[in-house]
Amino acid sequence: MSAMFDLTGRVAVVTGANTGIGQGIAVALAAAGADVAAVGRTPAEETAEKVRALGRKCELVQADLSSIAPVGDVVAQVLEKLGGLHILVNNAGIIRRADAVDFTEEDWDAVVDTNLKSVFFLSQAAGRHMIANHEATGQRGKIVNIASMLSFQGGIRVPSYTASKSGVAGLTKLLACEWASKGVNVNAIAPGYIATNNTAALQSDETRNRQILERIPENRWGSPADMGGAAVFLSSGAADYIQGHILAVDGGWLAR
Ligand code: NAP
Repeated sequence: MSAMFDLTGRVAVVTGANTGIGQGIAVALAAAGADVAAVGRTPAEETAEKVRALGRKCELVQADLSSIAPVGDVVAQVLEKLGGLHILVNNAGIIRRADAVDFTEEDWDAVVDTNLKSVFFLSQAAGRHMIANHEATGQRGKIVNIASMLSFQGGIRVPSYTASKSGVAGLTKLLACEWASKGVNVNAIAPGYIATNNTAALQSDETRNRQILERIPENRWGSPADMGGAAVFLSSGAADYIQGHILAVDGGWLAR
């Protein structure tokens, strides 16, 4: 049974892998056997140490994904440094908070460009390689997007974030429809409330923190490590017949 989840010989690209959910996923994929390319604007030295301690390779690829300029080079560097590209985890993301009536174009563009536009064009660049590789070798490609509770719900004071993560859910389904027949699985993980830099403001707001915890049946914030199992599953042969699914890993938040 464990063979279904084995990622030995696979190369996984994880964006925003220096911290938080990206780091948790990179380490889990390495524990399942994958070599890792940690892509981001801040070098993922700590993640690389953790991956290498598991006996897997880790290469750092510098890229600022606030624009799509680096996407072609990211794929080229991964292929050159690690000799393949089988799994792409689109994790890098940002959030900006302000009332909708005051929300600026700058905060709209910054979030949508990073969380949605770069996700599509990096998926396109990686997907082209995965489709060709599937034709040549029969190996399947796996794309795992990081969505959000705000792929399902509205949220408040985060209009560009909600738009981007709802877009990520739609894009996940579109790419699955186009690429399922070409040997690429495209799915997403929708994390609930996870204790990372991204949610530091919410965690330190006493009222919001209490309201959030009251709604989570697990009665705790999730950790980056909590995302690892779902990422390994969706990246593995065990999920070969799963397409366009947005898997909530949320301690029961959406079930409430
Ligand atoms: P985080 O700790 O703030 O990590 C975000 C990561 O994205 C960092 O590695 C960051 O790199 C990277 N990143 C941001 N802008 C980038 C850019 N322009 N180019 C390259 N990398 C960039 O937050 P997190 O909570 O782990 O978030 C990871 C993903 O999960 C995001 O897509 C987020 O929306 C999503 N998510 C989080 C939660 C949650 O509760 N935490 C819930 C649902 C979804 P730097 O360190 O260089 O900024």
